[in-house]
Amino acid sequence: MSALTDYSISELQRLYKKREIGPVEVVKAYLQEIDLKDPLVRAFLEVFHESAVMRAGELEEMDPEGMPLYGVPVALKDNISVKDRLLTCGSALLSQYTSPYDATVVHKLIEAGAVIVGKTNLDEFAMGSSTENSAFQVTRNPWDEECTPGGSSGGSAAAVASGMVPVALGSDTGGSIRQPAAFCGITGMKGTYGRVSRYGLVAFASSLDQIGPLTRDINDCAVVMEVLSGHDPKDSTTLESPAPGLVQGIEEGVEGLKVAVPAGIAGWQVEQPIIEFQEEAAAVLQREGATVEAAGLPGMEMSIACYYILATAEASSNLARYDGVRYGNRIEGATLREMYENTRGKGFGEEVKRRILLGTYVLSSGYYDAYYARALKVKSMICESYRKLFKKYDLIVMPTTPSTAFKIGEKSDDPVSMYHSDIFTAWVNIAGLPAVSIPAGISAEGLPIGIQIIASAGEEAKMLRAAGTLERSFSFRRRYLPGADS
Ligand code: GLN
Repeated sequence: MSALTDYSISELQRLYKKREIGPVEVVKAYLQEIDLKDPLVRAFLEVFHESAVMRAGELEEMDPEGMPLYGVPVALKDNISVKDRLLTCGSALLSQYTSPYDATVVHKLIEAGAVIVGKTNLDEFAMGSSTENSAFQVTRNPWDEECTPGGSSGGSAAAVASGMVPVALGSDTGGSIRQPAAFCGITGMKGTYGRVSRYGLVAFASSLDQIGPLTRDINDCAVVMEVLSGHDPKDSTTLESPAPGLVQGIEEGVEGLKVAVPAGIAGWQVEQPIIEFQEEAAAVLQREGATVEAAGLPGMEMSIACYYILATAEASSNLARYDGVRYGNRIEGATLREMYENTRGKGFGEEVKRRILLGTYVLSSGYYDAYYARALKVKSMICESYRKLFKKYDLIVMPTTPSTAFKIGEKSDDPVSMYHSDIFTAWVNIAGLPAVSIPAGISAEGLPIGIQIIASAGEEAKMLRAAGTLERSFSFRRRYLPGADS
């Protein structure tokens, strides 16, 4: 890795402003990393070689002042719309679909001076935890090529972890930013539900989906999150309240904060080294002046069942539009019905079909009350319990995942075990809360371990205070990130 691809966002900004370096050389250096590493990692579905260099050239004529992401290369999960670019969602059905408009986040990135360098691989329609459900390719974990990078934003996580981009965006419906961030040893955040506009994000489960950043450290994460956040008239679910400033708090420390850690975490089949880092996190926060207490996490035992009812129900409705008429590669048939069957039967992969079937089932008359309506009640209960819990505590600190990255193929025939990898993340989406995963350390096998920090709705800034404190103590980037100086 050359030095140009080592800089954090704030270092880049400092050097750009002094004109010591320019966006063209930085973008070219990253593109070179992609050309070198991506044949092995396979994180990218498309790389925008020409337009990225052109855009960097245009930026050289502009004043970096007021552009927090000036000359910062960014990759996007391929369920985020960029005008006139392919938007495949990892699906054969959309292999030829181009987006007619930019997502709001893309618009914001460009206004902030970012350079979009390409689209990254994902589980088809963001359904999965390993990126193996992509119709196009299997992405490898940069720490161990036999392991998955997690999912569904596995391409974005692997791209950042292998130094091919400093920033990538992902989407998180039940953990798809935080889980791959944990598996790949990087930082990944989702804001409070409604913090970031979903306009131009292909919908999976609209009441749970959020876009967020994957970065090398918490400072970069905060800078990008500040750019992405804010009300958007094009997404009526975005929050009206102004987005909080995040960067400042990172240095503030945790003095006086009340932190809950999960009681009886070992009962959740968590790997031992992960428990150890969780304990270390608790000790660090205590030492730095926070009060740390064990607390039961209400509803966690129901959260996976609840999530997989709500998410599949919404998905079955959201994916109805891929019928070969409105959207998707049409595969003809003798009748209209046959055309639909061919288009959807051949276009969708196995996992997506499983979700559509499940979702249609839980919404069908006769089963609606037993499944969907009941899951909604569980959701209300979970939301209420956390509102109460957060009256007592400022933050929850817990593992992001019960295991480190698993092997490619290990869970692909066992959906239930795959779904279990969301046990610590999916409830956060159900409750609509902000959460961030930061890298804590590595296991004896050399695989990264993530710690997750969760705050009450709207309290992202508080969350990043703890993230900053833990990051300084773990000093993961300096010690472990491939290519970083030690
Ligand atoms: N792994 C979860 C699922 O398969 C979460 C996906 C996501 O957050 N997009 O649904």
